[in-house]
Amino acid sequence: MNANADEKMASPASVEVDVVVVGAGLSGLSAAYELTKRDPSLRVAVLEAKDRVGGRTLTTTLKAAGGEDVWDLGGQWVGSSQTHIMALIQELGLEVYSQYDKGKKYMKLGDNKIRTFTSIPALPFWVLIDLYFLMRKIDSMSSQVPIEDPYQCQYAEKWDSITVEEFMQQQCWTAGAKEAADCLFLILGGADCSQMSLLFLLAQTNAAGGTGAVFDSSQSGQEFKVKGGTQQISSLLAEKIGKQNIFLNHPVMTVTQDDTQVHITTTKGDVFKCSRAIFTTMPQQTASMQFNPCLPAEKLELFKRMPAGYIVKFIITYQTAFWRDEGFSGEIVSSGKTDLLLGVLDATSPNGNPALVGFVAAKHAVKWSSQEASKRKAAVLSAIAEFLGPQAEECLDYVEKNWGEEPYTLGGPGCIGGTGCMAYYAAGLRKPFKRIHFGGTESATAWCSYLSGAVQAGIRTAIEVLHHLRPQTVTQEELKQTAYCPDSAQKKND
Ligand SMILES: Cc1cc2nc3c(=O)[nH]c(=O)nc-3n(C[C@H](O)[C@H](O)[C@H](O)COP(=O)(O)OP(=O)(O)OC[C@H]3O[C@@H](n4cnc5c(N)ncnc54)[C@H](O)[C@@H]3O)c2cc1C
Repeated sequence: MNANADEKMASPASVEVDVVVVGAGLSGLSAAYELTKRDPSLRVAVLEAKDRVGGRTLTTTLKAAGGEDVWDLGGQWVGSSQTHIMALIQELGLEVYSQYDKGKKYMKLGDNKIRTFTSIPALPFWVLIDLYFLMRKIDSMSSQVPIEDPYQCQYAEKWDSITVEEFMQQQCWTAGAKEAADCLFLILGGADCSQMSLLFLLAQTNAAGGTGAVFDSSQSGQEFKVKGGTQQISSLLAEKIGKQNIFLNHPVMTVTQDDTQVHITTTKGDVFKCSRAIFTTMPQQTASMQFNPCLPAEKLELFKRMPAGYIVKFIITYQTAFWRDEGFSGEIVSSGKTDLLLGVLDATSPNGNPALVGFVAAKHAVKWSSQEASKRKAAVLSAIAEFLGPQAEECLDYVEKNWGEEPYTLGGPGCIGGTGCMAYYAAGLRKPFKRIHFGGTESATAWCSYLSGAVQAGIRTAIEVLHHLRPQTVTQEELKQTAYCPDSAQKKND
């Protein structure tokens, strides 16, 4: 969406519509699209605090071997088991391409030895066995955690009272396995294992279909990327919804509801009145708004305990994919005790422009980001050069995106549930509060915290709203996925 088009969007002082959607990320736009697709007569307004659509997706242009090309600084990978995002990509006429993973990979753990491997990580035999059993244990425990309401699990209270760190200390008998797992969770979640409830991790793992689906790039989570970048999914949705219905630079501040209407006021003082509202903002962003009447205690308690992770993503472009020429996939996982912890993958574009993508996460990112920009860049390039050789320092372009500094987001890739939060999880995330419905990827029941979860949650909130405003457009089967499922743990609340 270009800036000129954005500026032309109306900025009314008082607007009355059927539905207001808060947040123009993938979840909010999926909700608005579903509403207008099912009944074009519905009047829908989307309010977004930023000056752009896309939320945690952001596509940028960089200098490339072939001139210029685009790369994703936010959500990027999709996979065939992520049915909601894959269906949307297809519906919008976009194409995906495979993540390059041919060749040897690099790994460096606490002993500071650089190892290469192809399929099985180059770890000592006993570390591999230990890691294998840890992952199988997580899979077997997570299969007992129903994502619709993790607290229904028999061991919920016990598993929610310990952190992932404590669990790994109990389970792992080699330091190497614990460190490898630590490193994977940290890069994927953007948080230290000591911050995360074990039950939260198990619920998220179950929602993604197990550890294999989450970690293995040849399977689901990191299988494909979207040609042209993921932010265009939001731009295309915005076009379908009608740009005149999307209000950028409209941060929501206060929300008042009574028996007939919801009044939503932005920081500029504009008031949007509607019959139903959908909030797709991240939990702590929602908690920072003023609700009258106040949000239910279970929501507030959950939102307080679900901060965003801390993640920085960088893209480096090159003249040649020299690592491929030398038989390497470009994949690096490094957690050397004294080094910058990072995860790196090949990011060569579908146009053939060579690039690497990488992450610095959690406490490592907090420390690293306190340095000047030139020092941060030098630290990343020299850390990669340690594996790929001095050519890694000869880049064409370098960009980093610190999501911890992004207004109205303040972190990523998703939000982290701390110990004690899961008792409020189902009702806190998904239960409607009178005329207000709650989406956002964190509230999904499949691939929560991912792009696919954002779409699923958006569609679910649209169905909830349609159930009230246009019941003829919703089937009983669809209602089963919502808070209005007759035998759901979440009882109807309207
Ligand atoms: C670095 C990074 C890498 C990632 N990699 C992947 C990946 O490879 N694959 C994957 O599937 N997922 C990935 N993710 C996660 C994925 O991007 C998110 O799950 C998804 O984009 C979330 O969409 P959403 O609509 O639920 O939330 P958001 O995109 O966060 O949208 C919420 C919107 O609400 C707006 N908002 C906040 N406060 C207000 C307010 N007061 N008033 C109005 N609007 C407000 C925000 O500005 C934002 O636009 C990654 C995320 C990051 C940050």
